[in-house]
Amino acid sequence: MTHTIGHFISGKLQADEQRTQDVFNPALGKAVSRVALASVATVDEAITAAQAAFPAWRNTPPLKRSRVMFRFLSLLEAHADEIASLISAEHGKIHHDALGEFRRGLEVIEYACGAPEFLKGEHSKNAGPMIDSWSEFHPLGVVAGITPFNFPAMVPMWMFPMAIACGNTFVLKPSEKDPSAIMRVAELFTEAGLPDGVFNVVNGDKEAVDALLNDSRIQAVSFVGSTPIAEYIYTTASANGKRVQALGGAKNHAIVMPDADIDNAVNALMGAAYGSCGERCMAISVVVAVGNEIADELVAKLTVQLQGLKVGPGTDNSMEMGPLISKEHMAKVAAYIGMADEEGAELVVDGRKLTVTGYEEGYFLGGSLIDKAKPGMKVYEDEIFGPVLCVVRVETMEEAMDLINVHEYGNGTCIFTRDGEAAHYFCDNIQAGMVGVNVPLPVPVAFHSFGGWKRSLFGDLYAYGPDSVRFYTRRKTITQRWPSAGVREGTAYTFPST
Ligand code: NAD
Repeated sequence: MTHTIGHFISGKLQADEQRTQDVFNPALGKAVSRVALASVATVDEAITAAQAAFPAWRNTPPLKRSRVMFRFLSLLEAHADEIASLISAEHGKIHHDALGEFRRGLEVIEYACGAPEFLKGEHSKNAGPMIDSWSEFHPLGVVAGITPFNFPAMVPMWMFPMAIACGNTFVLKPSEKDPSAIMRVAELFTEAGLPDGVFNVVNGDKEAVDALLNDSRIQAVSFVGSTPIAEYIYTTASANGKRVQALGGAKNHAIVMPDADIDNAVNALMGAAYGSCGERCMAISVVVAVGNEIADELVAKLTVQLQGLKVGPGTDNSMEMGPLISKEHMAKVAAYIGMADEEGAELVVDGRKLTVTGYEEGYFLGGSLIDKAKPGMKVYEDEIFGPVLCVVRVETMEEAMDLINVHEYGNGTCIFTRDGEAAHYFCDNIQAGMVGVNVPLPVPVAFHSFGGWKRSLFGDLYAYGPDSVRFYTRRKTITQRWPSAGVREGTAYTFPST
């Protein structure tokens, strides 16, 4: 183990050896570096840098801000492979999957390049007699982002490019489990011409997070992570008077209708359930089969595909699934798999039996398949966040939709069908924020916004896209009249109206 990953404050890497934590390569199952855990004083330093950079950045014309974004974009494109390797080394996901995540992050930056357009505001001429009125969108000041381990580059990139394009300055607290990719991204942002202090990264744990939540200079907080922490962030930051969006966990169901193209559905489900080892907030973790016949066929076909699933290190691009993030998380997922039979479900494929030759210490599990899961079972209710897919058998589409609608989470969902009427009914009545029709991972593109319903999101505005412009700005509406010279106006005691 050689180096300690510090912080990025005011355009510079900053060492910090006071309190550290190991960072692991999950394929090897061993610590490869350490990450600094920021103290309150370090967080204060980052916020001070961001606060100092705000006045000049706020006054930088949006067109100039977007020129920095264009340069940033091309630098990131040029370093895509390097950053994907950093993601893969600490997270474990396969290199091609890491590149995929990174490219989705780049799309948000492409959208952020349009700052002059989305910050134009709204104008009404002749809003009243000789009165013009317009709304402007002002940046908030210093805003913070707190992000999870599972998308170490993409999720931070949902936040800071839009916040910064809107004229804010930013302090990011990424996951302490895989911080290297975003540290490299921060360096490249400076290389693109971003003034020092506009984007800062503090590594750390709860101490750093609480320092951000309790500092009155932080105007808004964007959080993505598990639901208990999302709720904590939402309640604490709101009580401290901050604007908050806190995106939480998920248990995403896919319905397979009897008329679905079953082979396409099985292929789609394999990628959506087992890609990135199931560690995606949009992963499909429950498939609801409508009718026993379709359920039997699905289970049989998924079983065959699972037997051929290629599991190995992220550096091998021919693999389909890598390791889990940590030994503890692997044990937690394995414990859920062990519960299936005890709870009365049927463990059809047991991923706990896998060993990857040459990587015996790695945090690997194979894909697992649990049939006959039911509401009330922990394997069905909880977010397992691993390569485990549950099958629930129902008789009707209404029954399938009721399951989704009463579940605690409402992030993503999907229906596989060839029936347009059923698909339309599903889209209209399902209680979830992101809905797919024959699309298993309906992650909105960068010019829409990302967010779930129910306990998958605390707050009002979604991540990236048009909602993020609203989240990272506040409106000022100006009403203006210039009376003609020499015209004397009378006093009016009636409330003005046109
Ligand atoms: P996590 O909630 O453990 O951690 C997220 C962040 O919160 C990290 O930066 C961590 O350092 C910090 N944190 C952890 N415990 C804290 C505490 N007690 N007080 C203050 N801060 C704390 O989540 P994770 O394990 O890194 O990520 C996986 C979770 O994130 C899953 O539940 C997944 O569904 C969710 N997720 C959701 C979305 C979404 O868009 N809804 C996207 C990605 C991940």
